[in-house]
Amino acid sequence: MDVGDGAEFDVVVAGGGPAGSTLAAAVALRGHRVLVLESARFPRYQIGESLLPSTVHGVCRLIGASDAVARAGFVRKRGGTFRWGSSPDPWTFSFAVSPRMAGPTSFSYQVERMKFDKILLDNAQTAGAVVREQCTATRVFDADGRAAGLWYSDAGGAEHLVRARYVVDASGNRSRIYKSVGGRREYSEFFRNLAVFGYFANGKRLPEPNSGNIFCSTFGKGWFWYIPLSTSMTSVGAVIHRELAEEIQGDPEKALYKLIGECPHIAGLLADATRIAEGEYGQVRIRKDYSYHQSQFWRPGLVLVGDAACFVDPVFSSGVHLATMGALLAARSINSALAGGLSEDRLFREFELRYRHEYHVFYKYLMSFYAMNVDKESYFWQARKITGGSHSELEAFVELVGGVSSDEFALSPGEAMARRISSESAELARAARQIADSGSDSVLPLLKASGFAQAMQESEKVLARAQFGGEFTTEQPLSDGTLISSDDGLAWVAASEP
Ligand code: FAD
Repeated sequence: MDVGDGAEFDVVVAGGGPAGSTLAAAVALRGHRVLVLESARFPRYQIGESLLPSTVHGVCRLIGASDAVARAGFVRKRGGTFRWGSSPDPWTFSFAVSPRMAGPTSFSYQVERMKFDKILLDNAQTAGAVVREQCTATRVFDADGRAAGLWYSDAGGAEHLVRARYVVDASGNRSRIYKSVGGRREYSEFFRNLAVFGYFANGKRLPEPNSGNIFCSTFGKGWFWYIPLSTSMTSVGAVIHRELAEEIQGDPEKALYKLIGECPHIAGLLADATRIAEGEYGQVRIRKDYSYHQSQFWRPGLVLVGDAACFVDPVFSSGVHLATMGALLAARSINSALAGGLSEDRLFREFELRYRHEYHVFYKYLMSFYAMNVDKESYFWQARKITGGSHSELEAFVELVGGVSSDEFALSPGEAMARRISSESAELARAARQIADSGSDSVLPLLKASGFAQAMQESEKVLARAQFGGEFTTEQPLSDGTLISSDDGLAWVAASEP
């Protein structure tokens, strides 16, 4: 497709990371014309390797990427192991504790982002989006008081304008496109941390069945992550307070080794390991000032998703979850706006309301996780307060760190599956009734039986219960007058609509 000067799309997206490619796929699947401008050539390096079940089984399934992700051979993550709080011993949680993630979907993946992000970007293309790599968005184009396109420069440095009905900034935390939305980027005072990280070969693994878990361990100056990316490669990073910045000044590699030496659990796991010193994984990197949120997420014609909008501390691996969930919420608003019916203002307020809600749930809980240096029961209690659930403390905690604590059905693997089973059996019952009503001689007596439809409904409940171990409820709006997702999860409908 021609994307030269004067090209027009329904949506133009700056950035082809998880946020941009999720949004592009979710809008293209509804038949709209989408262009993704990505400044890098994929595969490209990115940090953020530990994923949540909500991304793998929720968002990836909705956008059609689940099979490709499953085939990639990523390390399976059953949960997390933490040396955190007053107890000197590590403690472990598994996603399977929550009925919302129980059954065949009670795991996530630890991913090499170079591979994972390429799968999602290719998937956006398969869904129908046009992707142009090595094209850098430079500024937002405005017309008639709203965002109406993007200026970008191609690989040769030539400038172009592409017009679109909606512009999405998914360009991560380094680009400056987000400023066009207005408001301020509010940096967190509480999470003014910095991270120093690298990759190691032959690090030890936790005992089975937890060898694929993320391991996080506190030490005097902060905490470490230890993420198994394959049988031999491990991502290892230290998060320390910004006031300790001088610790890593000069030689980041030396600083990383020094910090490892101060954390006995991590030093033990790396006793026989060597740092990978070549290729994309060969560098010791530093990131700082990564916890912030924009005070405004959208204006007419323009919406921010992913790190362009917000990010908070990595201890619960919530970055890709927030990025892909935010992208899905924005895609619903864009799809509904393009279809007409509901007002743009109402649609994008729904996006912002839900996205901020999820961000704040993580933010608040992370604060108590950092501040409460007591035992693990306290974290579970705090999670219970924040998620508002009536179930056990452990379940509430696991749902939060699994990314399914919001009443967002599409992200809750068990509930989404139950909903699909329900709609498939309703469809089957309808088809059976139609055949029976047609009076055809070939109709099986079974289809004509009076209790057929009820039997179908019962078997659907039994199937859902057998697979996911619980009863499932219907989706509720976040508050009175707000919207719920459509059956395919790609648009909004008013709560009263069927
Ligand atoms: P990105 O992944 O940054 O993608 C943005 C894309 O936009 C890039 O491909 C970039 O090349 C492109 N781009 C940039 N500027 C332009 C432009 N002007 N025009 C066109 N394209 C452009 N998250 C987790 O889920 N799990 C973790 O374990 C985890 N650990 C983390 C550890 C640290 C220390 C940090 C800082 C973050 C961590 N994260 C983690 C967060 C995670 O890295 C991000 O939240 C996630 O990558 C956000 O995805 P995104 O698509 O918004 O942005």
